[in-house]
Amino acid sequence: MYCRKCHNDVKGIQKNGFLVCPKCQGPLKKELSSEEKTLLIQSLHQRENRYRDRNDTALSGVVLGVTFLIIGFVFFYLSFKLNLADQSDNTKYLTTDSVEFYIAMVGLVGGGGAFLYGIIQFFFDLRKIRVLKHDAAEIQKTSSAQVGKTGAWLPEFEKALSIKIQNRKKLRQIERTQKPNK
Ligand SMILES: [Zn+2]
Repeated sequence: MYCRKCHNDVKGIQKNGFLVCPKCQGPLKKELSSEEKTLLIQSLHQRENRYRDRNDTALSGVVLGVTFLIIGFVFFYLSFKLNLADQSDNTKYLTTDSVEFYIAMVGLVGGGGAFLYGIIQFFFDLRKIRVLKHDAAEIQKTSSAQVGKTGAWLPEFEKALSIKIQNRKKLRQIERTQKPNK
């Protein structure tokens, strides 16, 4: 349930027979006055925007990570060198004491880290944005501080996908029927 005072999504605790917010100790109530409702929805929208900003940053992290990973792989390839002591040997050996190898390691570790961190943050923020959007819409509709669960991600994705596939099938059928028979 959302707290009418601090606008946090909290699990109420019992205190002197009242349900209160564990963060601000304010009394929790489902019913929202129209002013409380407006403020709460505003606060949810602001939070949603903050997550959107961070979501963009996370995406930059992913792009940066991929760039460093590519550099890492290129320099890893470059750290294979010929054995200069033996001119007849044409095999390239991985030289771990070369500058190339050092750059490769920095690129792979740094890039891998940025990529992983970015991708996790990206999906976490996306999920948060979805929940905030859903909650704001539900509060708008019901004027209640208590909201239901945001639907799972994948089922919606699959539903959207199946609708797309069905539409494409229908389109193909129409195309087929419109084609003149030879
Ligand atoms: Zn509170």
